[in-house]
Amino acid sequence: MTSDNRTWRATVLTLFPEMFPGPLGVSLAGRALASDIWQLDVRDIRSSATDKHRSVDDTPAGGGPGMVLRADILAAAIDAASVPEQPRLLMSPRGRPLTQQQVVELAQGAGPLIVCGRFEGVDQRVIEARGLEEVSIGDYVLSGGELGAMVLIDACVRLLPGVMGKLASGTEESFSDGLLEYPQFTRPQTFEGIGIPDVLTSGDHARVEAWRRAQAESLTQSRRPDLWAARKASSPPKNTTDG
Ligand code: SAH
Repeated sequence: MTSDNRTWRATVLTLFPEMFPGPLGVSLAGRALASDIWQLDVRDIRSSATDKHRSVDDTPAGGGPGMVLRADILAAAIDAASVPEQPRLLMSPRGRPLTQQQVVELAQGAGPLIVCGRFEGVDQRVIEARGLEEVSIGDYVLSGGELGAMVLIDACVRLLPGVMGKLASGTEESFSDGLLEYPQFTRPQTFEGIGIPDVLTSGDHARVEAWRRAQAESLTQSRRPDLWAARKASSPPKNTTDG
């Protein structure tokens, strides 16, 4: 479902390229990377520095603590790395919180260019001049955008065709239908005296489906009233046993 035949590619701009591939080099994402289902292009922002100290940051205009990534250096790094069809993202605690919906959209495209901030962040002018879309991975502050970029890339890569064993594993899990996933069980049949719910060993697919649906709904309602409310508000009225 990618827009063309090209391999999905994440381009990452960072001051710490040695952090990559890191966790993206193992398990599902790592195997997919090794078999060229996706590509990772990591660029060192410092390569675009021009002075003899190769400095990339400076003190904030108006004063205050810390350092800010310079607009000119970052713009040069973006210009050297970017491919026209790539969405350009900036990891940022001020950004729109990442959702599974956005992950699905990014996985279906050519793959993003991701700028990882450090220090106090980046000069506002480069965000605007290069059309960077700010993306947050949650309401807490990291020391850099790299872990956020890895989170985003990992979430996308597992959805690429050929990465997960069964295609269905991507469509039934948490958030795919605005619901959290139902509880899972496997062997042994009895664990510390507790069995597996009878319905799951009944072999009755319709009953299993209904049980999972009911579990997913009640879990979502109790744990994530925000998701539940959003789903109620946005889902077109269906002839199900909602409500
Ligand atoms: N002073 C900034 C925080 C800078 S943290 C502020 O208060 O908004 C340094 C870098 O870490 C940021 O530029 C960003 O790239 C990354 N980062 C920190 N928290 C993040 C989050 N929740 N989501 C995504 N990136 C984050």
